[in-house]
Amino acid sequence: MTVALGTIEHVESLILKVETDEGISGIGEGAPFEFVTGETLETSLYVARMLGNRLIGEDPLAIERIHHLMDKTIIGNSAAKAAIDIALYDLQGKWLNTPLYKILGGYSNTFITDMTIGIDQPEVMAQETKEKAEIGFSILKIKAGNDPEHDIEAVKLIRQAVGNRVRLRMDANQGWTSGQAIRVIREVDQYRVDAIEQPLAYWDIDGMKYVRNKTSIPIMADESVHSPIDAVKIIKQNAADMINIKLMKSAGLYKAVAINNIAEAAGVPCMVGCMLESKIGITAGASLVAAKRNIMGADMDSFLYVKETGISGGLSLQKGVITLSEEPGLGITINI
Ligand code: MG
Repeated sequence: MTVALGTIEHVESLILKVETDEGISGIGEGAPFEFVTGETLETSLYVARMLGNRLIGEDPLAIERIHHLMDKTIIGNSAAKAAIDIALYDLQGKWLNTPLYKILGGYSNTFITDMTIGIDQPEVMAQETKEKAEIGFSILKIKAGNDPEHDIEAVKLIRQAVGNRVRLRMDANQGWTSGQAIRVIREVDQYRVDAIEQPLAYWDIDGMKYVRNKTSIPIMADESVHSPIDAVKIIKQNAADMINIKLMKSAGLYKAVAINNIAEAAGVPCMVGCMLESKIGITAGASLVAAKRNIMGADMDSFLYVKETGISGGLSLQKGVITLSEEPGLGITINI
């Protein structure tokens, strides 16, 4: 898949197990993404081992304390920390004999996910979108940001190909300048695009606010928001209409919940996206989507591209609708 940040040829992720002296265990996943989290599989493995050693003897239910200890041990490294965080929530679910989506709030157990269309020739993107719509996906996320003219042409052909039966979002992955963003957004407005994700470089909050003020399609912050602190900055500056939370940016569920709480209180809806997680990380993210009323969108498709062996249970996906398992925790068993 090609996005404005680069082309992803293959994926590897970190699967982690937390064991307790009471015999209960939890599994988690870290999907490092160099362009966004600054981690590779090797660095996240190294850091996860280091954190694991630091946490031996701690109470696995004391998740606030464990995040504090992890952050005191090493800054950043959010995918490595997410692997531990997810495993702790899975463990908590098993301890309480309760599915994770209920532990996180239990608003619902099901939701619609979008499907991502990578950057390609506009005709190819239109054909792919049509195929995804035909198998039941009703929300498609169009990757953009390499070339404004190409992006406009792609959305035009896609809308022509699928008619009005699907909803479209665009994700520029930081690829545009503010001038390009304004031009593309004004142009694609006629093709009914629901949201524009991360038009500018992640650090350019002033620019995002400027683009938002000059255009009418809602702007969603993704790479600009990793932590609850980032969410406060975006909200204080009125720079975005929505926030895309990802567990690999937020170091897992604990801080993802905090981001959503901040956003909800400010009247800013969230969605939950993904890096390239397998079903383990995606079931964790999906549990959060289902659990929270303020999380109104989901991009939980990456596990479809990941070859999984020895992973069973977790969420199920049918015609673009994800339903969570009623098994405790993530409801996933691994046999690796
Ligand atoms: Mg994005």
